[in-house]
Amino acid sequence: MLVVGNEILQQAHKEGYGVGAFNFVNFEMLNAIFMAAHQASSPLIIQASEGAIKYMGIDMVVNMAQTMAARYPHIPVALHLDHGTTFESCQRAIAAGFTSVMIDASHHPFEENLALTTQVVKEAHKHGVSVEAELGRLMGIEDNISVDEKDAVLVNPKEAEIFVRESKVDYLAPAIGTSHGAFKFKGEPKLDFERLQEVKRLTDIPLVLHGASAIPDGVREAFLQTGGDLKGSKGVPFEFLQEAVRGGINKVNTDTDLRIAFMAEVRRIANTENTQFDLRKFFTPAMEAIQKVIVERMHLLGSANKI
Ligand SMILES: [Zn+2]
Repeated sequence: MLVVGNEILQQAHKEGYGVGAFNFVNFEMLNAIFMAAHQASSPLIIQASEGAIKYMGIDMVVNMAQTMAARYPHIPVALHLDHGTTFESCQRAIAAGFTSVMIDASHHPFEENLALTTQVVKEAHKHGVSVEAELGRLMGIEDNISVDEKDAVLVNPKEAEIFVRESKVDYLAPAIGTSHGAFKFKGEPKLDFERLQEVKRLTDIPLVLHGASAIPDGVREAFLQTGGDLKGSKGVPFEFLQEAVRGGINKVNTDTDLRIAFMAEVRRIANTENTQFDLRKFFTPAMEAIQKVIVERMHLLGSANKI
């Protein structure tokens, strides 16, 4: 059965570990995510973006999630809306059976973000669903960035304190220097861990790291070996993920790593087996590749063996 997001994240917040929140756009990704959680004995958050919902249909998203949750009844799992853009989008997800939603109004001024988040929290809590919001803008920070520039982009800890207290949001994604996709850092990877610790101290709620794919060497190599191009790609180093968890991150959003691992296998089969057109021959190894990435990640974040 699906459980409320906060149930999983409060536990992680108290015990100081991170739970992977993995995006899916089809059965294969979802199946691989659950196989990994089963193998690692880990609690789990599965998430769908508005784009994924458009692709699959919201009924399919919720039905697949519920079916998989029933198949693995011992795994506490929450179904989360990733980057909900409007009140209506969150409302629709809640009505359809999501147990956690994100309202992302981080590109709006603080007061507007606060007002919209508060509105979503009221609606969600009426239905026993928990809410994530975001403060600051998601983008890589560079060595030569000035303090003023940094303050304009990254989360302001004092604002975070007010935001959490007034909105009653359940968990918060503070921008500390990560970005989405496979090209996170231009120079050396850099995250503002001090800022993160300050946000944790002042809010004392579960925190969320977006853009947290690592692009591990094995995954990058597998993609490159098939002729794939990932020039200039850079993920969040493993030791940064661990330091983020120590600094108070409890939900670690991961999508890019799964996509690359999956597609590397699809490309490999396509390149080496010219006559192959049985979809299962492509997708079975692709699912195994995702499963391997996730099991490793669960051990790294500390959520393995927590159930
Ligand atoms: Zn995100």
